[in-house]
Order: sequence, then structure tokens, then C-alpha cells
Amino acid sequence: MKREILQLGHPLLRQRSREVTREELATPEVQALIFDLIETMRAENGAGIAAPQVGQLLRICIAEVHENPRYPSMPALPLRVWVNPVLHVMSESPRVCMYEGCLSVKGLRGRVTRPARLVVESWDREGAHQRDEFDGPLAAVAAHECDHLDGVLFVDRAESRTLVFLEQFEAFVPQEDRVLVLND
Ligand code: ZN
Repeated sequence: MKREILQLGHPLLRQRSREVTREELATPEVQALIFDLIETMRAENGAGIAAPQVGQLLRICIAEVHENPRYPSMPALPLRVWVNPVLHVMSESPRVCMYEGCLSVKGLRGRVTRPARLVVESWDREGAHQRDEFDGPLAAVAAHECDHLDGVLFVDRAESRTLVFLEQFEAFVPQEDRVLVLND
């Protein structure tokens, strides 16, 4: 079932979500939440979504990226479900500087700089331990989703002068400036 996505200004988007226990994860309610997050993300063409965006303050987020000719530098990512994720940034990580958007900040983009090399340690939807390593723009996707679990939105991290509405983004932000990996 597609759920309503809370929009910027809703106080639940600003709360810290709490850890999920293995017992909770196995309940039909939490399994349905994960299913609904997937359905909602896909219906809205998002690259990811986190439980607080549908009003559930649990540390669960998901991501999925399809290859898109409009974003040639963004690799594909098969569906990932991260329960209780912890991010480990690799030392001397390059940075990825990318225009981000968010299903909870409809119509707005802004440029955010984040570490490009990190590991996400988490459980999968059955509670098995998993480890995902990223090197490149997908690291920013993972970090964006995990930020939601601490009440942080991309607008908090964006350079304010780069904020741009979607229509103007398409018109004025050159393709080559949309995703950059900085090695210096
Ligand atoms: Zn978001």
C-alpha cells in the first residue's frame, strides 16, 4: 500500500528514529511497513525513502536506483533494505558533490557534499547482518537515507545558494555539474 509522505515542516521528520528489535522486525506490522516503503518509493520514482517519511519513527530505510540516461554518472543499485543501519566513512574518502532531492521536499534540489566512500552495516528485512560498501555517488544516496533516521534533511546540508526548483534545475544546471566526485 502506498503511504502518504510527510512534507518539510512536519515535526516527525525532525525526530530521531529508534532502533528496531528482531522481535519487532518479524511482526506483520513492520514487514508491512517495509513492503509499503518499497511501494511508495517506486510509485514516486524516488531513489530511496526512510520510515520517518511515512510517520514511523523506526530506523529503517531503503534505496533503489535504476540506470537512468539522465544521470549517466549514477550507477544502478538493486533494492536495498537497511534496518538499524550504521555508517562507517572510510578514511581519506573522496567526496561526492551532487544535487539531491527528497520525496519530503517536493520540487526542490540542492547541492550537497558528502563522503564518497563508506560502508553501511545493517540488518536485512529478515534480521540477517549485511554490509554494503559504496565508492561513488551511491554513497551519498545511502547517507541521505540514513540522515532521515536522525531527523536530518538534505536542505540542512545543502549550500543554500544552490537550492533550485526542479523546473529551473532541468533548465539551468548543466548535466556535468549534477554529480561530481572530488578527489582532492
Ligand atoms: Zn529524503
